[in-house]
Amino acid sequence: MTDQVRVRFAPSPTGDLHVGGARTALFNWLFARQHGGAFILRIEDTDQARLVGQSIAGIIESLRWLGLYWDEGPDVGGPYGPYVQSQRLHLYREHAQRLVLAGHAYYCFCTPERLERVRQGQRARGEPPGYDRHCRNLPPAEVEERLARGEPAVIRFKMPLEGETTIVDLLRGEITYENRLLQDLVLLKSDGFPTYHLANVVDDHYMRISHILRAEEWIPSAPLHYQLYRAFGWEMPVLCHLPLILSPDGKGKLSKRHGATGVLEFKRQGYLPEAMINYLALLGWAYDAEQEIFSREELLEKFRLEEVNPHPARFNFEKLLWMNQYY
Ligand code: GLU
Ligand code: ZN
Repeated sequence: MTDQVRVRFAPSPTGDLHVGGARTALFNWLFARQHGGAFILRIEDTDQARLVGQSIAGIIESLRWLGLYWDEGPDVGGPYGPYVQSQRLHLYREHAQRLVLAGHAYYCFCTPERLERVRQGQRARGEPPGYDRHCRNLPPAEVEERLARGEPAVIRFKMPLEGETTIVDLLRGEITYENRLLQDLVLLKSDGFPTYHLANVVDDHYMRISHILRAEEWIPSAPLHYQLYRAFGWEMPVLCHLPLILSPDGKGKLSKRHGATGVLEFKRQGYLPEAMINYLALLGWAYDAEQEIFSREELLEKFRLEEVNPHPARFNFEKLLWMNQYY
């Protein structure tokens, strides 16, 4: 790892940038600025089925409105473009092949019908769902022959079958998983597109990311990523999973039912970017019991990533409205 702080915001373009994503972007941006580091924007668009056409433009407009500018990216004549994963497919394919050659990954020819039968059997027996590693030990000659015949195949990672994987989260400390409960995840799909896991790890490595700040929902992926880093022989960045954002009543995740959740919706309703930034900073972080109004400069001075509270934070529309009137 380099000594330089390098962080990224890596949204999937599946819809509007919501407040949770904006909070992730803000914490990454603050952390980079505080350490004289780099803040990178990376669009993770490898799940073609979930793409929403206009959302890349919406994400960019949201970040610009909030004043969260990124520091590098492809030269598109003007401000940097974001990195876009669908423009880097060769890199992921090459790395999936590399793992196959090294014995860390394998071709799986299972059809959707077979996988469904496996799932039904597991359900009937009350077992947790998962791939049964059917293709993990196919004879190499058979694999060659089936590939030569053009049979559709995915590439799966060979998870260690024994032992434990321990990840360290900056806010939560160590979290340990039993390897036998981890899946042989798909790295490369049969259409040649990588999965989130492969593209995310390869990019974080080549973009020399030092700290991964992302939503809590990605914690279960971290042991898989840890094993991928190991297989490649790469050092894993520092992990920091940010707290969930709950609805105002605290009964579930914040969603559209509770009110506006998209950054551009707030913009249209007349909210000011400085009020949004102030409010987002307090979703999971507090300076002391008194101060609630922070300018961007004060946040840069006072925010501390290590002080973020890992417990879920409630979204409070009245508080945001109050802050907006203050600005
Ligand atoms: N593309 C993932 C998302 O949309 C990014 C997760 C990560 O930052 O590793 O949340
Ligand atoms: Zn298989």
